[in-house]
Amino acid sequence: RCSMSQNKIKRIGVFTSGGDAPGMNAAIRAVVRTASYYQKEVFGIMRGYEGMIEGDIVKLGARSVGNIIQRGGTILKTARCQEFRTPEGRKKAFENLQREGIDALVGIGGDGSFTGLHYLTKEFNIPGVCIPGTIDNDLAGTDYTIGYDTATNTAVEAIDRIRDTALSHNRLFFIEVMGRNSGYIAINSGIAGGAAAIIIPEENMTFEELMNHLTEGEGTSKKSNLVVVAEGSKIGDANELARRVAERSSYFDIKVTILGHLQRGGAPSYFDRVLASKMGVAAVEGLLAGQTDVMVGIRNNKMVFNSFETIINHIHEIDNESLRIAKILSI
Ligand code: ADP
Repeated sequence: RCSMSQNKIKRIGVFTSGGDAPGMNAAIRAVVRTASYYQKEVFGIMRGYEGMIEGDIVKLGARSVGNIIQRGGTILKTARCQEFRTPEGRKKAFENLQREGIDALVGIGGDGSFTGLHYLTKEFNIPGVCIPGTIDNDLAGTDYTIGYDTATNTAVEAIDRIRDTALSHNRLFFIEVMGRNSGYIAINSGIAGGAAAIIIPEENMTFEELMNHLTEGEGTSKKSNLVVVAEGSKIGDANELARRVAERSSYFDIKVTILGHLQRGGAPSYFDRVLASKMGVAAVEGLLAGQTDVMVGIRNNKMVFNSFETIINHIHEIDNESLRIAKILSI
């Protein structure tokens, strides 16, 4: 069908690893179908590097990934695996790949998963391409990661519901969203949900500034106040912030909601399905064109390949414009 089918790669292994994210299934589907399109065989490696070390590997084909594009989670399951961090663990994994005749890999996961794949490609000279799957959108080299859009939509829906109850009682709500090192979900769900304040790890808002902002709202008789707090807040998590505000002011009736794992589940948004589909095709076509030790990304709506060195230990910064508009709109 294409000259790429002449490439020496015969059998591609695909796996999901690290934290799960909605849209991983759409990425698996795209990888499997693209491989089939180019007449390559595809095997699914179960539970990420754990399954690679245990040899838990299943044959897949274009038909085995039907009816999964709309499903959250990952049909290949995912795991964290300490043993893969050791050279011995990676050797075991590589031996299993060899036994199955797998001569190229596509991994779907975050920076940890990419680091693992980087070592494997270097140590055993097996080509590997990574697809960024993580709800946090915390990877450099790509404007978006798979799962981030869905998770943010889920957070916005939850914020809307909390607003209804907050309005009914004049309550101040602290809503904690995911993002241990990254404020992406918080800043954008906060803007979309009309938050009074947004606390993210990247910004140095002090507790006093937050307090001043909330009590300004008191003066202008704001009827509800929603504060969106990223997990990785440097001035305390949602519970701690609520406690400290309560100590200082009896004006507010304060509640806390921690959204937690519900942000990881659910059907992927159209955006994540399309992103995953594009990235899956790019990963396989990249492998067949000789790419290795790279992560697929989308920059300005174009697919790109980023080398390990340009991704790891680089941060995906929140743009200042988002911070600026969040401030203007929360007066
Ligand atoms: P994510 O891929 O979502 O960032 P983790 O950081 O948990 O998730 O990484 C997933 C897996 O990748 C780890 O459980 C481990 O098996 C592998 N991994 C992570 N870092 C390394 C490393 N430095 N060396 C080898 N393998 C690693």
